[in-house]
Amino acid sequence: MPKALVIGAGSAGPAVAQLLTEQGWNAPLFEARSSLDRAEGLFLNVAINGRRVLRLLGAEERLLSDAHPAPLMEMWSGRGRHLATVPNGPAGSPADGGAVVRRGWLQEVLWDSAITAGVQIHPGKRLVGVEQNDRGVRAEFADGHVEEGDIIIGADGVGSLLRRQVAPEVTAEYTGLIGTGGFSRVPGLAPTVGVQRFVFGRRSFFGYLVREDGTVYWFANLTAPQLPSRDRSVSGEEILTRLQQVHDADPEPVPSILAHSTGSIGSYPIFRVPTSPRWWRGRAVLIGDAVHATSPSAGQGASLALEDAASLAAALGAGATDHERAFAAFERERRERVEKIVAYAASIDKQKKTSGNPISAAARDFLLPLFLRGATKDTRYDWVFDYTPPPVVAASDSPNGARSTP
Ligand SMILES: Cc1cc2nc3c(=O)[nH]c(=O)nc-3n(C[C@H](O)[C@H](O)[C@H](O)COP(=O)(O)OP(=O)(O)OC[C@H]3O[C@@H](n4cnc5c(N)ncnc54)[C@H](O)[C@@H]3O)c2cc1C
Repeated sequence: MPKALVIGAGSAGPAVAQLLTEQGWNAPLFEARSSLDRAEGLFLNVAINGRRVLRLLGAEERLLSDAHPAPLMEMWSGRGRHLATVPNGPAGSPADGGAVVRRGWLQEVLWDSAITAGVQIHPGKRLVGVEQNDRGVRAEFADGHVEEGDIIIGADGVGSLLRRQVAPEVTAEYTGLIGTGGFSRVPGLAPTVGVQRFVFGRRSFFGYLVREDGTVYWFANLTAPQLPSRDRSVSGEEILTRLQQVHDADPEPVPSILAHSTGSIGSYPIFRVPTSPRWWRGRAVLIGDAVHATSPSAGQGASLALEDAASLAAALGAGATDHERAFAAFERERRERVEKIVAYAASIDKQKKTSGNPISAAARDFLLPLFLRGATKDTRYDWVFDYTPPPVVAASDSPNGARSTP
């Protein structure tokens, strides 16, 4: 049985491990974090292209059982004026809209799905070194554990260790934005049914949604040209105080959402990996954020990672006999699409950064409604969502039986 060592149990890792297992591979999954913590991370958008992969995994329905469906996104100015409504999915197809989920919930659903398919997940295993030769790969973990396999798949995120071996010249770029966010509950605030709202605040971009039960998911992007020093950890309270100052002149419900914030506040600098000259080297291949991290602005990070998982599993098929050919086919299929989406997300980041400048903000508030008039029927961006995973032909001894393209 061919063996793939899968590194990183975020979005891409569990998905590729499951699909390979279903094709007859031994695909153990190694994760640096020591346990699955539902509270880790905030929330993210899963677009229809990512949902199709979850469907292939048999996990879509469970994921959507605790999601905020958001087929539409509303843009508001810092003066409380509705600027535009745009689709969060292919235009004119609300059933194919995105869904916003807690990141911890996506993790749990993907892990459970992989375990059910027979994947062995090993938490607490941080990859620290890899060697490869013409017979196989040898991975070394921080706790001294060593594992051998035919190939190694780096699904180890934006700070990927495996990327140092595949493409050592590539480093993740800081976008100049700090993502912050959390949860809130504002008495009397009505649910934003089917919608996420975005406010071009006077000094910072703010996004929120209100679930049916009144829980608010919110985020704010702070512009910070210099990457904050790692030496100083900033407390959630300090971040909240800063956000309340930054958003004090913005329209309601922004100040109230911050005032009623509950639980911990997340804060992380946003990085991207716009391109990499190589996606694979020898027996090692990269997928997801490890090779093309995108800022969250296009709502595509998790969906692209899931797409990679499906495409790589299909390229590898049932055997490791010609892994280099499979890796090359995978890169050929994926590169143009993901680089285009990473660039698209970067162009959205630029719009967010202008909100501190009153002149460009006024120009944007004037122009955006003109550009985005009729956007809900504008099919120009449908290509972003245009991915259908290739069919996976299950191995006869797979516990889950055959699957077909959703
Ligand atoms: C803790 C966490 C919280 C996040 N929160 C958000 C959020 O709130 N909103 C948002 O839009 N995006 C968030 N992201 C990013 C988002 O999950 C990814 O952009 C997207 O899902 C792409 O998935 P991925 O599998 O490529 O990478 P990731 O989801 O980042 O997964 C990579 C995995 O690899 C593991 N890993 C890293 N290095 C090693 C190593 N050396 N050995 C073994 N394992 C390793 C990491 O612990 C992680 O589990 C978060 C990521 C993480 C890790």
